[in-house]
Amino acid sequence: MTIRTAQILAVGTELTVGETRDTNSGDLARDLVARGVDVRRIAALPDDLAALGAAFRAAIEDSELVLSTGGLGPTPDDLTREAIATMLGETPAVDPDLERWLRELFARRRIPFPEANRKQAWLIPSAEAIPNANGTAPGWLVRIPGGRVIVALPGPPREMLPMWRDTVLPALAAIGLGRPAVVRTLRLAGIGESAVAERLADLLDPGARPSVATYARAEAVDIRIAASGDGDGDTAERLVDDAEHRILARLGEHVWARDRTTWAEALAVALDQHGWQLAVSEIGLCGALVSLLGDGLGDRLVLAEVRPAPEPGTPSLAARAADLRRAKDEVVGLAAEVRTRGSDTAVSVAVAGPAGSRRERRVVFMGGQIGRGRAALAAADVLLAYLEGRPAGKRTTHRRAQPATVART
Ligand code: AMP
Ligand code: MG
Repeated sequence: MTIRTAQILAVGTELTVGETRDTNSGDLARDLVARGVDVRRIAALPDDLAALGAAFRAAIEDSELVLSTGGLGPTPDDLTREAIATMLGETPAVDPDLERWLRELFARRRIPFPEANRKQAWLIPSAEAIPNANGTAPGWLVRIPGGRVIVALPGPPREMLPMWRDTVLPALAAIGLGRPAVVRTLRLAGIGESAVAERLADLLDPGARPSVATYARAEAVDIRIAASGDGDGDTAERLVDDAEHRILARLGEHVWARDRTTWAEALAVALDQHGWQLAVSEIGLCGALVSLLGDGLGDRLVLAEVRPAPEPGTPSLAARAADLRRAKDEVVGLAAEVRTRGSDTAVSVAVAGPAGSRRERRVVFMGGQIGRGRAALAAADVLLAYLEGRPAGKRTTHRRAQPATVART
């Protein structure tokens, strides 16, 4: 049997009252979709036995895989195990191996073993334990007669994600998971979502194959192209390739990266290709540019200067960019300054480096924090164009970008 459909249940009243954001479901869904599994629903549920029981029952009737996170803690309001056991008509019992493991965990920390934690050693006959290397809540992998599967994982992402990757995904792959799927994202700058959608109108049909969708995000307009083939990865790949070519022919000059590449990662790849480092000075951006670049560039960023406002008598932006280099061959200086322009923001950018210097001015929509954020993106775009040796906003249409293999630091 092959698992092709899934539902994800996020368990915990903290989610339904808005105290905690459900990040787990999206992380799991992305991994499933990348494997060609159709995620038919994501739901958040309160810590209520009847609600959980009904949700698990409906989910497993609908889909071949039900994945839950949360509700595996030791307290009486953690009810995921109870809900699954009740639904299947099975009685939980303490598993001696799990209990020994749990007791040792507490003994090692010299903490008396709380009786409440015994239920974290529960199993039902249909469940096998999923080891948890980072907490006290093992998960359950439950095989239902007929081949359907329920997987219950704990809520904390730092416990849940390693269990998912190290144990659950391999176990599901052994059962048979998904079908060949290809998902590719093109990241665009310098164009709005509606303009993108207009130019791709013929490809955006909801039922089309491959599916093409646009997402307006803070740092890019993303175009997501996806196809899954039936037992035939080649077909899916070809469909996505074809669509990508058609999209690049229309919008290639706006594509600055692929998939989940961030600005910092794209710039890091471009800097590394030359063996260059970066020095930044931003004026009036309140840290927007440095925070966009800083984290991801690691020690490629040799200097970051944040100035609140232009000061009279200070050097021109071009001179400032040149100064930042401190006459070092391997350093690129980037200076950016913003001014309010009506309800919008004007941004001036100067780059100076081993490949010469350039200056550019752009006006971005909106003022305030949103305007500053967009001004920072414009500055990053100017810098990337400089590093890639092309005029700003002009990209070769059929270039396949370097894969972003930059370690996040
Ligand atoms: P649990 O005891 O297994 O119900 O989960 C405990 C903690 O995990 C919660 O207090 C949250 O901090 C975190 N958590 C639970 N569910 C989620 C979720 N869906 N996404 C992100 N964090 C979560
Ligand atoms: Mg809970």
